[in-house]
Amino acid sequence: MTEVAMQGPVVVLGGGLAAVSFAGGLRSGGFGGEIVCVSDEAEPPYDRPPLSKEFQREGAADKIRLDLSRAHDVQWLRGTPASKVDTQRREVLLADGRSLGYRTLVFATGATPRRLPALQGAPMPVITLRTLDDAQRIRAGLTAGARLVVIGGGVIGLELAATAQGLGAQATVIEALDRVMNRCASATLAAVVAQSHRERGVDLRLGRQVTGFDGHAILLDDGTHVDADLVVVGIGVVANDALARAADIACDDGIFVDRFGRTTCPGVYAIGDVTRQRNPISERFERIETWSNAQNQGLAVARTLLDPTVTPYADIPWYWSDQYDLRIQVAGVSMGDDEIVRGDASPGSKFSLIQLHRGRVVGVTCMNNVREFSSLKRLLGDVALPDRAALADPGTDLRKLLAAPRT
Ligand code: FAD
Ligand code: NDP
Repeated sequence: MTEVAMQGPVVVLGGGLAAVSFAGGLRSGGFGGEIVCVSDEAEPPYDRPPLSKEFQREGAADKIRLDLSRAHDVQWLRGTPASKVDTQRREVLLADGRSLGYRTLVFATGATPRRLPALQGAPMPVITLRTLDDAQRIRAGLTAGARLVVIGGGVIGLELAATAQGLGAQATVIEALDRVMNRCASATLAAVVAQSHRERGVDLRLGRQVTGFDGHAILLDDGTHVDADLVVVGIGVVANDALARAADIACDDGIFVDRFGRTTCPGVYAIGDVTRQRNPISERFERIETWSNAQNQGLAVARTLLDPTVTPYADIPWYWSDQYDLRIQVAGVSMGDDEIVRGDASPGSKFSLIQLHRGRVVGVTCMNNVREFSSLKRLLGDVALPDRAALADPGTDLRKLLAAPRT
């Protein structure tokens, strides 16, 4: 008998994309039993990517709701944090004192932004961006002429800086490293993105740390200061794995899962940003903090619960990022010892990048080259590399090149 075919409810902790995708996957797969989703957010489920982009421009919360039609007949407990998991009794305790028994438990608790203690007590709003409420507070401050200081030159920081410039605010980005998007972009892409921001008026300070504040000025480690009406901190996230850790489930800033979403505790699974899973390209256990992972791992774990013989989850990680009119798409990993540049890798151009490690393709990037992305993704994994000169030539038809026999 499969796990979920056994008696007792499926309890999901979290109400984000991974939770909705998982619940929808169970229902579409024919599961007729009880599903309970416990979310600490009072808001009905919503999509996070627009929070740094369209939502800042339009402010329309109704446009970013997740579609719950597939996840029908789910009991939602909203505004209700889970506070403890007892894996012996198969029970979840809620912060309001209630308890829920489960047959199958799924952690979909996501991640929480890191804070910056140096800015505690600052007089201007200092906000991290994860929730709709955060996004609403940021939006209220992003008026024309407002001085926005973003700490962290990662995806959140850069997307928000781009949106802010478009709204007539003046953005300064402080990044501790000497490049942007260190976690998720190759050096070539990072240089083009940095230059694109500077050309649009962003004051980008690389290799700088925040040391504190003085009135409405943010102080930096080189003795300079930046005046700020609003500060957004985007310095990465930590996994919401505390309940799993307290229940003796193996975690290390993320709940360890195998390709079936199984944790180290029988009957307990995890999906989405909270997981630490084997990246099929790097072959290391990593957190894969992308929309596509939350969506597809949620669906895949639902499928394997209903039918353990299906192919386990091993999707190649990928994400997109929209900054100004730049559509960036990255798949695989952005490290490597070699790179093929397809086109002119400079601001304003469309181009693609192919990252290699020991002769194997480990990552692909498209800058405003959406039509090439799915073809290039097919290079990832253990496929033979096509002719290098042909690959580098933007005039080469990728579909034909990849269809040709290779040695
Ligand atoms: P989450 O969406 O974080 O959901 C987890 C939920 O669990 C939260 O509601 C949380 O409050 C709740 N929870 C936590 N603890 C408990 C508890 N104890 N009890 C009950 N509930 C709990 N990815 C891309 O690929 N492209 C993009 O352009 C992109 N843009 C993004 C923009 C922003 C501003 C952000 C924040 C993320 C963006 N992402 C993007 C990443 C993507 O949105 C995430 O990877 C995805 O939302 C993760 O989904 P999740 O369900 O795993 O976690
Ligand atoms: P990231 O990890 O992408 O980037 C954070 C950046 O801030 C890193 O370069 C980090 O450097 C730097 N940093 C860390 N500490 C400091 C400091 N004290 N001062 C200055 N810089 C510092 O995280 P984000 O916060 O940008 O994004 C948070 C989450 O939201 C992620 O899960 C991300 O995937 C998701 N998201 C995804 C988007 C997308 O895919 N398009 C868009 C927006 C958000 P270091 O590497 O050294 O720590």
